[in-house]
Amino acid sequence: MIVRQLTCRAALNAHLFAQVRFPTGHRDMARPSSDLAAFRKMFSKANNIAIITGAGVSAESGVPTFRGAGGYWRKWQAQDLATPEAFSRNPSRVWEFYHYRREVMLTKNPNPAHLSIAECEERLSKQGRNVTVITQNIDELHRRAGSKNILEIHGSLFRTRCISCGHEESNYNSPICAALEGKGAPDPNTHDAQIPVQQLPRCELKGCHGLLRPAVVWFGETLDADILTNAEKVLDSCDLCLVVGTSSVVYPAAMFAPQVAARGVPVAEFNMEDTPATMRFKFHFHGPCGTTLPAALAPHESEQQ
Ligand SMILES: [Zn+2]
Repeated sequence: MIVRQLTCRAALNAHLFAQVRFPTGHRDMARPSSDLAAFRKMFSKANNIAIITGAGVSAESGVPTFRGAGGYWRKWQAQDLATPEAFSRNPSRVWEFYHYRREVMLTKNPNPAHLSIAECEERLSKQGRNVTVITQNIDELHRRAGSKNILEIHGSLFRTRCISCGHEESNYNSPICAALEGKGAPDPNTHDAQIPVQQLPRCELKGCHGLLRPAVVWFGETLDADILTNAEKVLDSCDLCLVVGTSSVVYPAAMFAPQVAARGVPVAEFNMEDTPATMRFKFHFHGPCGTTLPAALAPHESEQQ
């Protein structure tokens, strides 16, 4: 039940992490990468591997996040548009933003990090071993790489939910509706398309015709309880945990990985930079995960073919 407890404690954890102090002299010095052979030995014995992934994995495929320095769509960042309030105020603008993000994904592809995770899952499943991806990414690149056991805790760009009847389904239409065709340009001088709400994506269930929204978790919204319960089970039962491309100060890695580490289970962090939690983890591998992960997850000499 660790995740449930932590839902309330996430803010506290973030506070605690902010208090972590490295010994003098360590602050400017990245933690050196761990011994890969030592990690590989643990990897070869693990039967239930949880892989938590975040924006860094998508960034290596060139997927924009619209957060942080320079991360703008028109005049806004994700936190301005990815909210229920923004959607009820201006559903046309929010749909333009998501339409753009969906269309951008047609030009992006899984990178070696996604592919090595998917390959590892398939290979280990033949040995009776499990790999589960818990991702905060909404771009479906893990799915496209071939991963099967995926918990998309923040939803997907390619799912819709009806705000009237609640029906949720996959949607890969391009454009998602006629009125959005050619809309969504990110340039700051672009004017809102101001699409009438009746012409935005609508529910196709008989007699409903409600307005659809992207089935993603927006700022201020709670996670899907079923997905959270499943993530909880995976984290409670894993005997090895990887944290890939996500800072361990922000949700969800701040909740998940340090608790797995506290259970005495080895955690390996793969990231471009150190995080305040880096020193809590047994392993840390520095660099682009498209480079570090394929080496880490390649077949081990002890694996039965
Ligand atoms: Zn509906």
